[in-house]
Amino acid sequence: TEPLVEIRNLRTHFFTDDGVVKAVEGVDLDIFANRTLCILGESGCGKSIMARSILRIVDAPGKIVDGSIIYHNATGQSVDLARARNGSRQLRDIRGQDIAMIFQEPMSSLGPIQKIGRQITETILLHRKVTKAEAKEIAIDLLDRVGIPQPARRFDSYPFELSGGMRQRAMIAMALSCQPRLLIADEPTTALDVTTQAQILDLIAELKEELQMGVMLITHDLGVVAEVAGDVAVMYMGKVVEKGDVFSIFEAPQHPYTRALLESVPRMGGGRRDRLPAIRGMVPHPLARPSGCTFRTRCDHAMAGICDRSEPVLTPAGETQAACFLHITEMTDD
Ligand code: SF4
Ligand code: MG
Repeated sequence: TEPLVEIRNLRTHFFTDDGVVKAVEGVDLDIFANRTLCILGESGCGKSIMARSILRIVDAPGKIVDGSIIYHNATGQSVDLARARNGSRQLRDIRGQDIAMIFQEPMSSLGPIQKIGRQITETILLHRKVTKAEAKEIAIDLLDRVGIPQPARRFDSYPFELSGGMRQRAMIAMALSCQPRLLIADEPTTALDVTTQAQILDLIAELKEELQMGVMLITHDLGVVAEVAGDVAVMYMGKVVEKGDVFSIFEAPQHPYTRALLESVPRMGGGRRDRLPAIRGMVPHPLARPSGCTFRTRCDHAMAGICDRSEPVLTPAGETQAACFLHITEMTDD
């Protein structure tokens, strides 16, 4: 099947006074309908910037400098989101209707001074040909679907009157009100307690099936990945260092970084799911990217004269694809 979105060689850079931060540096990814792609990585690895690039909501001084983001719409046309004119009708339509995004902090997309129901109703009226009364009905139904009790009453609540978990649900209801074909969720459950987190993840999985929606879920939490992922892409310093289906990634990770991430996870009930465990050394400063493989300063397998010379690209390795010279035998044979 054809992907919903094909990202090719995406590079998003930040032009700061101190130099160019290569936040996203050559990412290739496919996002499919009715499938959840988890983007896994430590904070600052570029996963949010990559997601924001898709919607073209990267803040200045960030800029897409290269690559393409081909979106295949419902009528079979292809649009390169990386090149669509900013502020164009085409981009606005896709952003509001085809692709929706939810964030860790619901208040960033819920306006504080308007009742929840009204906000959802307005979104529906903007994108669907329905009457006001119908829009209200749809909104109440959505609030019900996302697990908000007494939805007809909550319709008239202000965001501040809801708990964090309920606000998160309201934001999801709003994101889903236009029946998007792709939902991008950036750490949607990080701020929530474990029970609410599980409910929200279940909800997203359920709605994914029902709407045949593609989901791209960004997280630093391996527990979340294990729970919801179909496919996984592991990011490090703006690059995808490994990608594959969730079983292969967990069973037989091929990249030293992925292995380190998985090995240092507490087995059961560790209660430390909210942060990735420590890996030897530190992520280099973004303005001091190592030459060659960006992971080499922390890698136990780094090979002098190889890993510092050129950048490994994603190559079939085991059941996944990994960007590591350990798997590129032709290079070591030279
Ligand atoms: Fe380690 Fe070299 Fe592989 Fe990079 S390319 S992960 S430094 S072995
Ligand atoms: Mg982030």
